[in-house]
Amino acid sequence: MGYKEISKSGNENYNLLDYDMARKKFNWWNDAFNKMDWLPGGGLNNAFEAVDRHVINGKGDKLAMIWVGKNEEEEKYTYLELKQKSDNFGSVMRNLGIKRGDKVFIFMDRLPELYISALGILKSGGIIAPLFSAFGPDPVKDRMEDAGARYLITTPELRQKLDDILPQIKTLKNVIIVNKDSRYKDPLQKGDLSYEDLMQSCCEDKFEIEHTTQYDFAIIHYTSGSTGKPKGVLHRHQAVIQQWLTGKLALDFTPEDIYFCTADPGWVTGTSYGILAPWTNGVTQLIYEGGFGAQSWYKLIEKYKVTIWYTAPTAVRLLMRAGGKIIEKFDFSSLRFIGSVGEPLNPEAVVWGNENYGLPIHDNWWQTETGAIMCANFPSMPIRPGSMGRPIPGIEMSVIDENYEPVPVGEIGALAVRPGWPSMMYAYWEKDEMYNSRFKKGWYITGDQASMDEDGYFWFQGRADDVINTAGHLVGPFEVESALIEHPAVAEAGVIGKPDPIAMEIVKAFVTLNPDFKPSKNLSRELIKFSRSKLSAGIAPREIDFVDIMPKTRSGKIMRRLLKARELGLPEGDISTLEED
Ligand code: ATP
Ligand code: MG
Repeated sequence: MGYKEISKSGNENYNLLDYDMARKKFNWWNDAFNKMDWLPGGGLNNAFEAVDRHVINGKGDKLAMIWVGKNEEEEKYTYLELKQKSDNFGSVMRNLGIKRGDKVFIFMDRLPELYISALGILKSGGIIAPLFSAFGPDPVKDRMEDAGARYLITTPELRQKLDDILPQIKTLKNVIIVNKDSRYKDPLQKGDLSYEDLMQSCCEDKFEIEHTTQYDFAIIHYTSGSTGKPKGVLHRHQAVIQQWLTGKLALDFTPEDIYFCTADPGWVTGTSYGILAPWTNGVTQLIYEGGFGAQSWYKLIEKYKVTIWYTAPTAVRLLMRAGGKIIEKFDFSSLRFIGSVGEPLNPEAVVWGNENYGLPIHDNWWQTETGAIMCANFPSMPIRPGSMGRPIPGIEMSVIDENYEPVPVGEIGALAVRPGWPSMMYAYWEKDEMYNSRFKKGWYITGDQASMDEDGYFWFQGRADDVINTAGHLVGPFEVESALIEHPAVAEAGVIGKPDPIAMEIVKAFVTLNPDFKPSKNLSRELIKFSRSKLSAGIAPREIDFVDIMPKTRSGKIMRRLLKARELGLPEGDISTLEED
């Protein structure tokens, strides 16, 4: 869309300096598996790799976590403290009788105890199932029932939300309540256990990590529900190998970094890149309990001298809406890398970052199913705004047609990956048929549509279901949305194909407006004209509707299937992950 490539200075000391060479020479065993410490006596445990090995290697005093609460409270934990506390919780779980493979749901705000308990559970051989704390009772019940939850860790206020549903979870053995700083006077209900009491009565020095192997299950994550009912994706301890590798190569982690990941552990980014990738790489991680806020995020970056920041397009678009003026009030000189994932990152946003933070935003692509980054704009590589970059060394990606053959350069097809990467999902929980349907003729079919250019950069086009067929053209909604948000009036855009007797489908856009702009027929006409000037007339939207709120998943993705269902008066389907405003 006419955006110039953003080249890099080239004199930085990035972990990956020569992409082509790294890719050519890459060997999973030497360059990744062998870089883990592995458990004494054999086996692999992701929490051991994230925490304990640094302590064993003499880095116990290093700061692992800086936690900032909603009210700006602050707690700091070294790797040694994180080890001791997670051992302590591992002992607690052991005493409660946890068995390898038991599922432990964690339903909590981003408190330090979330991270400590997650690590402790992984060390005791359990499977963690973190859920976003804004969920209502029904989505929690669905997921706990679906997975067969054995334990639940939560807080008094969130526990109250679940009063009616918990008795219905027949597999549930214990509920553990975290009453941080004794905030609640009467935190426990009948049968509940107190996290603080359990931790106090049980000491970490007797704890021995479960001898998990790389093939043991570690995490179950429910997908975002952008395309339909969320699926439970099961991952193994082995995934940590690729999480470590991509943290190093795609996000450029070094032990000197202060890293801020804005994702919640209820979504895969919040565990893969909010727990495992940063800590296996020995960085200091800033964890903020609060949600989005331009001012509060900027303050944190300045105060804690954040060097690497990993966020999502929805947040970037909100930051753009908040404007460049407020950036001037903060010192961003510590920042050296910004990454984004979760949705397509509009080229406008990449360029805006470059102009306003002095750093372009690096898009990378992956899914709950892939467990770790698969394709990235690496720090040393020129950025082509709108592209999600090139595959991680060791990963083979392709764009294929309906016969599973690669399509010519530049053409749109199904984005596919050669199976066998370390962080590949092991299963969709109890959905074998669906799992099997994703593997065809030696490819994992991602469900996304993309194209690849002559230099091997991948360009996201849309979800397979979202690609629009209009008068014989295949149109990716992303391209149209990106053109629309270049207009100063438009904050966000969601584009769908609306059935049409002649063209098969026409392109229809839903937009939210920036402050100071009001919906009008004139504006709608202007936006159509504007998109025509950016795109060809056949691709530009024929209809535009103004909406107050863009329907999004709680993880911040535009729900085009909902825009479409509403437009056509069809049932809305599963809306358990719909963000309520
Ligand atoms: P569900 O599978 O339940 O429909 P979901 O696919 O949104 O939800 P996730 O696994 O959280 O659930 O998201 C992965 C998807 O997000 C990818 O398949 C892709 O469609 C989109 N995505 C992630 N990163 C990018 C990116 N950098 N560019 C474009 N799309 C992306
Ligand atoms: Mg998906």
